[in-house]
Parts: sequence; C-alpha cells; structure tokens
Amino acid sequence: MAAAAAAAAKRALLPWARNGHHALARVIGSGSGSGSFRGEFATAGRRWSLLQCRWRSSLPAQLESTDKSDEDSGGDIDWDNLGFRLTPTDYMYVMRCSLEDGVFSRGELGRYGNIELSPCSGVINYGQGLFEGMKAYRRSDMQGYMLFRPEENARRMQHGADRMCMPSPSVEQFVHAVKQTVLANRRWVPPQGKGALYIRPLLIGSGPILGVAPAPEYTFLIYASPVGNYFKKGLAPISLVVEDAIHRTMPGGTGGVKTITNYAPVLKAQIEAKSRGFTDVLYLDAVHKRYIEEVSSCNIFIVKGGVVTTPATVGTILPGITRKSIIELARDRGYQVDERLVSIDDLVGADEVFCTGTAVVVAPVSSVTYQGQRYEFRTGQHTLSQALHTALTSIQMGLAEDKKGWTVAID
Ligand SMILES: *Cc1c(COP(=O)(O)O)cnc(C)c1O
Repeated sequence: MAAAAAAAAKRALLPWARNGHHALARVIGSGSGSGSFRGEFATAGRRWSLLQCRWRSSLPAQLESTDKSDEDSGGDIDWDNLGFRLTPTDYMYVMRCSLEDGVFSRGELGRYGNIELSPCSGVINYGQGLFEGMKAYRRSDMQGYMLFRPEENARRMQHGADRMCMPSPSVEQFVHAVKQTVLANRRWVPPQGKGALYIRPLLIGSGPILGVAPAPEYTFLIYASPVGNYFKKGLAPISLVVEDAIHRTMPGGTGGVKTITNYAPVLKAQIEAKSRGFTDVLYLDAVHKRYIEEVSSCNIFIVKGGVVTTPATVGTILPGITRKSIIELARDRGYQVDERLVSIDDLVGADEVFCTGTAVVVAPVSSVTYQGQRYEFRTGQHTLSQALHTALTSIQMGLAEDKKGWTVAID
C-alpha cells in the first residue's frame, strides 16, 4: 500500500515522493499532507507509523499567519540588562536528514519550543552532537542586520560532522538557515551597543540507535537569543586559574571540533574555579601539563613587546573564528603573530593576556593563577586587547568599513 501511494505521489510530484520517506514523514508530521495519504500510511506497517509518531510530535508548529517579528523591537525587553542567558525568541529553524540519504533537504521555520526525541537517540545516548555560536548585530543605520563570517561556522560544522560521523548541511544551506532565523526573530536583535542576537546552530544524531553506532537520522536546528556580555562584569578584565588535573581534551580526541561532548567534562573544573573567585579556567595540554591550550569557551593570546603569540591549533584546541580574525587584525597593526606551543613560562612572562571568542569577543585577562601563584597583566587603556576589541566590533557592527569582506548583510 505504501509503495502504491508513493508511486501515485511521485506522479503527482509531491515533495516527499522525490526525497524519500523522511521527507514524507515531514509532510505527514507538519500536517500538510492530505488526509488520505495520512490514513494510508498509518496502516502501511509498523515502520511507517513509528516514523509518523516520532516525527509528528517533534516538528515545530506551522508558522502563524501573523508574523510577530514584524512588530517593532523593544516591548518589555530590558535591553540594558542582557547578560549571557537564554531569552526565548519566536522561531527556530529545523532541517532533517537520514543517514541513508546523507543530504539535508528543505528545512523550515517553526515556533520556538521544546522538541521531542527518542529516548534512544544518538545524541542523548552517545553524545553525537555539534554546536555553533554566532552573533547578528543590528546595523548602525537601523536597516537590516549583520552576520560575521558565517561561512566559517558552516565549514567548521562540516569538519566537526566528519569527525563525529554525521552528515552536515551545505555551506549555502547553513547560511540561508541562519539568515532565516535572524529575520524571523528580528524583533529580538538588540539595539546597537546593547548586545547582539546570539545564534545557536545544532547538529544532532536525533534518530534511535541502541548499539554504539552513528544514529540513523540527523537534525539541524537553529535557535536564537538576545545577549549582552558573556562574563558578568562586562568588559572588566577576567581572572583565570590554570587547571592541571582536569584536561579539556587530548591528542586524538575531539578538542578541535565544537562537539557537545567537550563541555560537560570540564564543568567540575569551572565550578571549582568560580567558587574560588576566578572567572574561568585555563587548560593545559594533557601530555606534558606544561603548554597552555585555551579557556572553556574561548581561545587565548599573550602579548610580549611587539609579538603576539597564541597556541597553535593542532587538534586539541578549537580553531576559533574570532581567533583567526584577531590574528589578521594584529598583523595589520604591525604585530608579529606566532602560532606555536605556548608554555606556562611564556605566559607568566607576558605583558598582556587576552581571550577571544564569539561570546566573549576580546576579553582582557588581568591575572592568571598557577599552582597558587598569581601573575598579573596589563589591562585597560592603551592595551592591544582594547584596540583589537574596538577594531573587531566596529567591523562586526558596521561602524567601520569592512575591507576584508567578513560581514554578511541580512536585509
Ligand atoms: C566556540 C569556542 C571558541 C571560540 O570560537 P569562535 O569561533 O571564536 O567563537 C574557543 N574555544 C572553545 C572551546 C569554543 O567552544
């Protein structure tokens, strides 16, 4: 019966018939399939009905006809007190793919809300998942929005997907989905100078798998939240503590990709550091316990004279897009930038230390504590970190000319 219906649909060029049964499930799930197809498939065997149940409940509701995002921003949002926490927005983007197909077909926006997953899904059981982090800024002229190097995030997700044995969206699909998500949630993009719309793309093994293996189905999802500063004290310098017992990653591991499995294992070190008054943790390499790697969610740089140094990304460090951009901006200002092994000794002898990441932007480090000893560094006016922070955010917010073609406008 399923085969007959599929053949009929193919003749009628229904979208699911061209794209296989997962697209079919999507049509059924979203409620836009015709009643007769729904009925036929419900009786067409256990496989279909299971799919139908699973997909129907996990799909976001259809877009409402009145697009709330058309309303002016503002409302009851306290733009002056945005921290780095979730403020739920109106819409999220969802796109799915089966392992069999290996390619993502058309995604769609739906109302933001909970998703339903099989208790047996690959992501929940075995951590098959990746995330990305990006920001959209409101343009200075209040017309449209700006993304920063979104293709880099897309490519990083593809690289991570390869490591985690997942299919991934194309760069075009990724960037298109990000733009759609920003536009649908445009009333949540903070006014200039107040923050940004943080965009969180996810790629997860959403299909059920009992034995350790890649999940049979994948979900690419993007949600967004307006954010202000990442660290509580805003642009105030941060204090780090060097962790030498717990490691973030190891050679041969997954430190070089943004997999969700890299983060929970260091919560213990982070909580301990915070309870001792530090802002965050600086991790050491797992082999020698001598070379600095990075902070929980950002890369690290040291400045000594006219030389800027940052740990080379050799598989244990996340290759940050902010890191890459800052290297270029520092070179443009005449600094020599070295990517190499950076020992604790190099660090403690530095003039200046700072961290980079989409969430933190450029964060000056005032002190690093290592084995009970506290080392201090220059912060504030006339530091390189401050100059780089200004240079980078000016490009990101459209206040300075983007000579590098890093920004992507959304109108
Ligand atoms: C996301 C992340 C960074 C920063 O990457 P950006 O592309 O600059 O945002 C650095 N380190 C870790 C561990 C991260 O997860």
